[in-house]
Amino acid sequence: MPPLEPTCKSGIGTLQGMRAHPFGHQPQTEDVFRRLVESIRDYAIFLLTPEGNVASWNPGAERIKQYQAHEIIGKHFSIFYPPQDLAAGKPNMELRVAAEVGRFEDEGWRIRKDGSRFWANVIISAVRDDDGTLIGFGKITRDITDRREAELRYRLLIDGVTDYAIYSLDANGNITSWNSGAQRIKGYTNEEIIGQHFSRFYTQQDTDAGLPARVLEAAAIAGHYEGEGWRVRKDGTKFWSSVVVTPLRDEAGELVGFSKITRDVTDRKLLLDTVQQHAEELELRIAEREQTNAELEAFSYSVSHDLRAPLRAIEGFTDIVLTDFGAQLPTPAVEYLRHILQATGRMNSLVRDLLSYSRMSRLEINSEPVQVGKVIRDACAELDEAMRSKVAVSADPSLCVCAHSVTLAQILFNLINNGLKFYPPDESPHVDVNARREGGTIVISVRDEGIGIAPQHQERIFQVFERLHTADSYPGTGIGLAIVKRGIARMGGTVRVESAPGKGSTFYLSLPAA
Ligand code: ADP
Repeated sequence: MPPLEPTCKSGIGTLQGMRAHPFGHQPQTEDVFRRLVESIRDYAIFLLTPEGNVASWNPGAERIKQYQAHEIIGKHFSIFYPPQDLAAGKPNMELRVAAEVGRFEDEGWRIRKDGSRFWANVIISAVRDDDGTLIGFGKITRDITDRREAELRYRLLIDGVTDYAIYSLDANGNITSWNSGAQRIKGYTNEEIIGQHFSRFYTQQDTDAGLPARVLEAAAIAGHYEGEGWRVRKDGTKFWSSVVVTPLRDEAGELVGFSKITRDVTDRKLLLDTVQQHAEELELRIAEREQTNAELEAFSYSVSHDLRAPLRAIEGFTDIVLTDFGAQLPTPAVEYLRHILQATGRMNSLVRDLLSYSRMSRLEINSEPVQVGKVIRDACAELDEAMRSKVAVSADPSLCVCAHSVTLAQILFNLINNGLKFYPPDESPHVDVNARREGGTIVISVRDEGIGIAPQHQERIFQVFERLHTADSYPGTGIGLAIVKRGIARMGGTVRVESAPGKGSTFYLSLPAA
């Protein structure tokens, strides 16, 4: 059987030289095949003799390699290879491999007629007759310079990223690409890691628990996997990584591998751990303090409660002695008994206020919509009639606040009472109560023009027993504002004061609008 004969004809006419060609015996089929090849412009498709001489030429070959059929047919195909490939004997090696195994595929630089280079994808197939005798080679060449450049640009881009480890795995989890960020973070070079299984980045514990396989499985099923965890560097040290895994599928939807992006977020993790630890310690301390407070409150409640009975006895018997035997007693004795009565009266007020302060913490306070004007009226109703006339109220009747009405009335009473009380002795007191809406908040202010409070005392007056005056100049127990502060806090509101000595004070309550 004669091998392929070179011919000057364009196309594939040389196939006539074959006793049995691959596309059947009918001349029509051969014609169709010839036309097909001749219409293809994107691929150079041509035949080589067993020695490697060009035996046919199509328009794709002419377009890509710039030779016309008559210029190239009969020439050895090594003309397309760059000098270093020729020196290495590549063209003949490729034919040898194709002859041995039937097919050879390669990518590399090839030379056009004008000497310019293009990046080619080349497939060489051995063509044999029915007896298995080699009669030549079919060669298909594609110019993929653009694709290669795009890949190169992409590669450079990926490699330029040093903050992220970006690498790919095959479907079994073996590493197929590796960027400089991966090398920086994990410590392995390209040569060391390509082909290795990615589970080597996991701790022994995680590997034993089958985590690497589960990660790939989760990514393959959900189309995406994100997670964080400890990973191991080449030198054995650990880092906290944030990982995104995406499955890679071919056009048919078949899983071909995974892309992985890993970030070293150890610093963030350690910071968060420290914050978390502090938060836990703080919570523990708060819980301890709350327990101590609760115990103290229970104690003060029972003490105040238990003090009332003996107090009543002292008061009652002193009163009886004064009433029934006052006339028989010497004047100083009567005077002393009156002192005892005064002191028990004061102690009664203290016990009463302490009890209501304790109650403010212990009682359940359920807030509900409350009309502000009505609560202010309730608070004023507790005042002496003479005092009530010294209070001016301005509140829109439509204003509603979210509060516990009894508690709010008690708070307002304490503030109004203070406003009327802390005036210079020679001045007639006057208090303005005003309510307005500020966004989602209702602000109630209680303003007087009394003695005022120096800035350095404006915080401490809200604590139990903190008073700025003696009981002689202004009576009181020093508990009223503590009740205000606790009560308003329990309803989710706040209290603050604006004041200057000699200029009066304004207390502001802020509560959620209903
Ligand atoms: P009390 O009125 O029984 O003394 P409070 O807790 O109500 O106790 O007030 C604490 C202290 O704050 C008062 O003793 C007083 O010195 C100061 N204070 C409160 N309200 C006013 C006010 N409107 N003007 C001036 N000082 C005030």
